[in-house]
Amino acid sequence: ASSGLKTSNYLRHVESLKSFPSGAGNIPQLNAVILGEALASEETDRVYPSEDFTRQALVPSPEKYLEMYKRSIEDPAGFWADIASQFYWKQKWDQEVCSENLDIRKGNIKIEWFKGGITNICYNCVDRNIEAGLGDKIAIYWEGNELGVDGTLTYSQLLHQVCQLANYLKDIGVKKGDAVIIYLPMLMELPIAMLACARIGAVHSIVFAGFSAESLSQRIMDCKPKAVITCNAVMRGPKVIQLKDIVDAALADCAKNGISVDVCLTYDNQSAMTRENTKWQEGRDIWWQDVIPKYPTTCEIEWVDAEDPLFLLYTSGSTGKPKGVLHTTGGYMVYTATTFKYAFDYKPSDVYWCTADCGWITGHSYVTYGPLLNGAAVVVFEGAPNYPDSGRCWDIVDKYKVTIFYTAPTLVRSLMREGDQYVTRYSRKSLRVLGSVGEPINPSAWRLLALLFSPLMQEWFYNVVGDARCPISDTWWQTETGGFMITPLPGAWPQKPGSATFPFFGVQPVIVDEKGVELEGECSGYLCVKSSWPGAFRTLYGDHERYETTYFKPFAGYYFTGDGCRRDKDGYHWLTGRVDDVINVSGHRIGTAEVESALVSHPQCAEAAVVGIEHEVKGQGIYAFVTLVDGVPYSKELRKSLILTVRKQIGAFAAPDKIHWAPGLPKTRSGKIMRRILRKIASRQLDELGDTSTLADPGIVDQLIALADS
Ligand code: ATP
Ligand code: MG
Repeated sequence: ASSGLKTSNYLRHVESLKSFPSGAGNIPQLNAVILGEALASEETDRVYPSEDFTRQALVPSPEKYLEMYKRSIEDPAGFWADIASQFYWKQKWDQEVCSENLDIRKGNIKIEWFKGGITNICYNCVDRNIEAGLGDKIAIYWEGNELGVDGTLTYSQLLHQVCQLANYLKDIGVKKGDAVIIYLPMLMELPIAMLACARIGAVHSIVFAGFSAESLSQRIMDCKPKAVITCNAVMRGPKVIQLKDIVDAALADCAKNGISVDVCLTYDNQSAMTRENTKWQEGRDIWWQDVIPKYPTTCEIEWVDAEDPLFLLYTSGSTGKPKGVLHTTGGYMVYTATTFKYAFDYKPSDVYWCTADCGWITGHSYVTYGPLLNGAAVVVFEGAPNYPDSGRCWDIVDKYKVTIFYTAPTLVRSLMREGDQYVTRYSRKSLRVLGSVGEPINPSAWRLLALLFSPLMQEWFYNVVGDARCPISDTWWQTETGGFMITPLPGAWPQKPGSATFPFFGVQPVIVDEKGVELEGECSGYLCVKSSWPGAFRTLYGDHERYETTYFKPFAGYYFTGDGCRRDKDGYHWLTGRVDDVINVSGHRIGTAEVESALVSHPQCAEAAVVGIEHEVKGQGIYAFVTLVDGVPYSKELRKSLILTVRKQIGAFAAPDKIHWAPGLPKTRSGKIMRRILRKIASRQLDELGDTSTLADPGIVDQLIALADS
């Protein structure tokens, strides 16, 4: 049995960190990487932080990390209590900082942190920072869809707006513990609404404002909110999306099922639609601008228990029906703040931009809560990365002098397809840390990201005096984990492109085999986590049993992530995709992510998705969907050369049996490839495509089917 908190095999794995050389003495290796030379082994694949970066980093060396990590494992109560004390608690926790109960064999799973503590996350995000003198600091830089449409909010202004909305919500009868559905695009009103709910102890449930009426109504019926907060319409690039119509349809559907919502607070987004054109239901629908400004700009805090729920959020649905993940207040607060600070090496002078939407966990933890808890200046972007053209992101980076840029591989790959000219037009000089989340970032995309962001790129090529100015934090985590779990700490150790590297403080990742036996040293298997961390989700809303069976029963005594992982001889972690994405070819277990990385390293391949199919001889065969770089035609020769690339990089056993040319891939609205649909297309089980409601572009499925045998 594991007495998780007390001992850690993992410590032994990371001990080897100690022996790493650090500093810029190894830059020639970096150049080899950047110049795209074949990488002989992971050994030569290390990218070292520059000395300048390391000198100013919060965690400047492997030794410092080890010291902190060790304490976080050996004395979690002390470690987290020290950090938690930097926040405001109306009343300090009186019991153990954390429960130890993660061992399903001992009974039910009940995770608790800072039990007995009384606090409020809105107070800690806003009021506390103002008291510390940040009242006039910009909290939010808002950039609209159209060039030149923007706005700012200082911490004091943010407080006023949050209080007005909070007062309104109280006025219409929203009480502590009540749910509020938020269906808003990336307006400033979205973080304002989150914070207003938190201020009065209401539980927000954000539904990404790209979901259909059906998905929205399912979520409304699940949590039965007191109110829905939305806006009439939004521009996404050149397109108008009529959000209010979607909400109307969802509410009508709910009414048919006996669930009624009394209030639909609607922000009048004049840039997208006029009031006159907005369909309206008197009595239920209220214009935000008509009521909210009338309310007082101060509002009493509703103090809540550390374990009171903060929000409910559904997973992105990559593997099936979305799960309603519930996060509570105290542990989540401490965890998101701490992970944000260290993984991005946050300094008060930073300007931070995360491209994720608040409709996803990334937007919860790393657009709103984590950054604001640190008193950061945050960019909130309403528009699309390719509007008016593919240079928009770098335009925004230059405009606000963004220093920390956090995005998803899917966005990097889509911009890569468009060519360098959109990037090199801008200086990007302000950037110092980059982050990535959501999928394994293929080494080739990683390297390109590094390239795209270096204004010194020319010198790299010509003078071979490169300076790896921007470390990339490839953060591995999940809706369920609340915050980063395995992530580089920029400046602390050399990176290996494509690896999420080492665990965050307090996190004990273990890799187990089919029987749940912990594997040691260099290994590959199922990624689990031993014992609990403050940001862990506490239940699946309304279904604690499913919570236990999905996450804690598969491997008794551990939290099971659903992901596969390889740990190399240096203790670095490589996420290999979901475990159901592991393909067994003639007894070789091959992670889909590895084959995809190899394919994408081909200069003409933009994106790849690999699934397993039945194979008479090999058991399973490899079926690869590939999208090509813009303008490249698909040909027999290209097919051969793609296969050859995989043979060379991984081995003949991993060579795809079938290459399926794809104009695009089916993705969730958060940008993840939905492999379960590709598996059905690959095996031609077209009547079993299943739930496609979370797909961004359902039309892609038909296109792929049409191209299947061409
Ligand atoms: P569902 O659980 O409904 O199938 P989902 O797992 O896509 O949806 P999220 O919680 O948004 O929902 O995504 C978490 C998953 O994303 C992880 O389990 C992992 O597979 C993948 N992931 C996230 N970050 C990384 C990363 N840095 N490297 C590799 N994979 C990542
Ligand atoms: Mg998941």
